[in-house]
Amino acid sequence: MNKTMDLFDLHCDTAFECATKLGGADINKGARHISLARAGYLNNWRQVFAIFMPDEYRGEAAERHYERVRDYLHRQAKIFPREFVIANDSDGFHDNAAKCRAIISVEGGSALAGKIERVQSLYNDGVRLITLTWNDSNELADGIRAEKGRGLTDFGRNAVREMNRLHMAVDVSHLSDAGFYDVAEISEAPFVASHSNARKLCGNARNLTDDMISIISSRGGVIGLNFYVGFLREDENAHMTDILRHAEYMLSLGCENCLCLGSDFDGCDIPPDMSGIESMGELYEHFLRLNYSEDLVKKIFSRNAENYFKKYIFED
Ligand SMILES: [Zn+2]
Repeated sequence: MNKTMDLFDLHCDTAFECATKLGGADINKGARHISLARAGYLNNWRQVFAIFMPDEYRGEAAERHYERVRDYLHRQAKIFPREFVIANDSDGFHDNAAKCRAIISVEGGSALAGKIERVQSLYNDGVRLITLTWNDSNELADGIRAEKGRGLTDFGRNAVREMNRLHMAVDVSHLSDAGFYDVAEISEAPFVASHSNARKLCGNARNLTDDMISIISSRGGVIGLNFYVGFLREDENAHMTDILRHAEYMLSLGCENCLCLGSDFDGCDIPPDMSGIESMGELYEHFLRLNYSEDLVKKIFSRNAENYFKKYIFED
């Protein structure tokens, strides 16, 4: 296992899992995909922790759910002050002494409860990335499973502009195709697909078309490869090598400076030859064995995401 590797993962559901299903279990250990203990071998680790918003919560129920997972994350930062630092400014983002620099995201704009001023409140709470929808429709837009597949609402357009103003990353994973093109039209900042693969290789609507991949990449955005078996292969019989297959394909579309990882750990079924964040060392070695240059592997595992956040989110 690589002892000096850096990791910047654009998506996991560990916070939601711990705060809700596991009744507030601490982040330091446990049998989930991610824990501080299991990531002990990493040299420099930045992890986006999503506050996942189930589609059944709207309005006040959504606000309460958001607060519950937000409070969990802030509590963990207090319990593990040296190991778990919430990166909500340039200092936190560059805090090399911290084991984990946690970036808070919200997976589902329903957390805004239809109030534009809540974009600023979420920002004040430390949120630096918002996945506009989950699978169903919300106040901002339709998700990819919503029947009509509509794009951004007026509120969604205003939310994107407000996120641009505050330097929060706009995330199109889970968004309807029409919503994707609306974001491409109105977002002034490069945007991200935090956990989506190539639709050409696995025809799931949660994955990105070649055109979408090219748009994100040519604008300076980033794409995180998702480890969910159903987004790697249509038959779901996926292995670690399928992650490399999607990487290879995206690189063939010119994603050298755009390709990242968005594991979806603790939110999905991962390939059976992986067990969690401790498998990232092996995945890294897999890339090297296929004669990828170490420089390119470092870009995929950390540098591309680091550059994006440095440039657009934590710029001085
Ligand atoms: Zn997701």
